[in-house]
Amino acid sequence: MSLDLLISGGLVADGTGAPLRRTDVGVTDGRLVLLPEGGPFEAGGARVIDATGLVVAPGFIDVHTHSDAVTLLGAAGKELAAAPVRMGVTVEICGNCGSSLFPALPERVAALRRSSRAGFGGDIPIFQDYGAFVEAHGHAPRSNHLTSLVGHGTLRAGVLGYEDRPATAAELDTMCALLDDALAAGAAGLSTGLIYTPGTYGDTAEVVALARVAARYGKPYVTHLRDEMSRVEEALEEAVEIARRSGAALHVSHHKTAGKYAWGRTERTLPRIAELRAQGMDITCDVYPYTEGSTSLSAMFPPWANDGGTEALLDRLRRPGERDRMRRAIEDGVPGWENTVGNGGWDRISVACAANHPEVEGRTIAELGGDLGDPVDIAAELLLAEEGEVTIISHSMREDDVQRVLASEFAMIGSDGVPKPGHPHPRLAGTFPRVLGRYSRDQGLFPLESAVHKMTGMAADRFGLKDRGVVRDGAHADLVLFDPVTVADGATYADPLLPPVGVEAVVVAGRPAVEHGTLTGELPGRIIGL
Ligand SMILES: [Zn+2]
Repeated sequence: MSLDLLISGGLVADGTGAPLRRTDVGVTDGRLVLLPEGGPFEAGGARVIDATGLVVAPGFIDVHTHSDAVTLLGAAGKELAAAPVRMGVTVEICGNCGSSLFPALPERVAALRRSSRAGFGGDIPIFQDYGAFVEAHGHAPRSNHLTSLVGHGTLRAGVLGYEDRPATAAELDTMCALLDDALAAGAAGLSTGLIYTPGTYGDTAEVVALARVAARYGKPYVTHLRDEMSRVEEALEEAVEIARRSGAALHVSHHKTAGKYAWGRTERTLPRIAELRAQGMDITCDVYPYTEGSTSLSAMFPPWANDGGTEALLDRLRRPGERDRMRRAIEDGVPGWENTVGNGGWDRISVACAANHPEVEGRTIAELGGDLGDPVDIAAELLLAEEGEVTIISHSMREDDVQRVLASEFAMIGSDGVPKPGHPHPRLAGTFPRVLGRYSRDQGLFPLESAVHKMTGMAADRFGLKDRGVVRDGAHADLVLFDPVTVADGATYADPLLPPVGVEAVVVAGRPAVEHGTLTGELPGRIIGL
């Protein structure tokens, strides 16, 4: 047998949670071979990576990303696109929170494209179907692999636009048919973002109908719950009801209990999930290792304000009477709406990305309001100045809640990375090393092999990624080599793309995409699916 690559001298964490063991690992034709004990193995002509003192793990699978378009944007997205692979991620699952780049009825594609700006100075493309999405990525080489969920928000906008009303029976049938096509073609599951417009306009029955389609393919229903704050428990029960009625497996995205009214509630949500699992329900979650969240500034305004999409929101923000109505809605709340500001305050919302006004990045809306006036006006003027595209960081969680979710046996790791210019949340570039360094090694929250399992085998099982997330004979040759003594996140709020420490090498499809902690320039990634 001739090897293309030999990784010698390392300790293997195989992704199943089994204890570390000393094994050399070879790569031949893009697949792994475990080499007999008693090595060292003769390398022959193979390229050799010395892994002495390093852990050799399956490449990390990031189950929650928003990397749908970043590699399609050419040079503008290059540095952002590289952040995940530099921290060891060899597979990214995008299309989360109800937002994917497909599908849409042909006559809707142009309108969706216009309302999808992201501060890159151009439009984010929307594709009619999964095949067109895969084809576009085929022309945009990438360093790691990508697979996508089908976003309910995109599906809804792609059939009936950004309207605040129930879908008609015919529209729902069309949504189900588009979803069916995408899942048949290889998409990984169905996602919702039930706090975001237009996802929030969909009721439980609508999501049940769609989740039934996912269930037919044995693919999961993945949800950003309708509320992660004061009504998080009710929102979890809605998701459970959707799973029960549809028969789909349930995966709760970035599980958190955020805002002062929900702090400590993971003491109830996690035992509830454990109870459901004990009763036989297939339910899991993911989590990112930070007490701050990140989302769009427009989500701080009530759903009716966003009715009709971005242009409609901006139009309302220009009218003083409408703006006052929004101010009152934020103060008093709106039934069924997760009111982030009402649960925390404008002093807990800081600007992450505002392409035209970088000077406000890093400052809270309350600070910016300071002498100048009401924070609602500051937020409104900022949205107008940025044509609706402002990303924020919300200082909304408590450390004990984050740790409790991380330590749950059914929680895997998802960065929720948002690759936008400016000061994106550091989770984009720091999540996986931070779990290994800060939470596993330094705080002893769980052993290293469990941390690796949460990042690999558990994720591959959930999303049906065959022969991935595990180091064994015949598995895909996606690997990460890291130093267990030094591994740590480097990214900060001030400098969010600083690379991690201790991630020495990352192998994608048998080719080193990172060596000596540096990008090699290799682009072996592709779209994986089915
Ligand atoms: Zn989300």
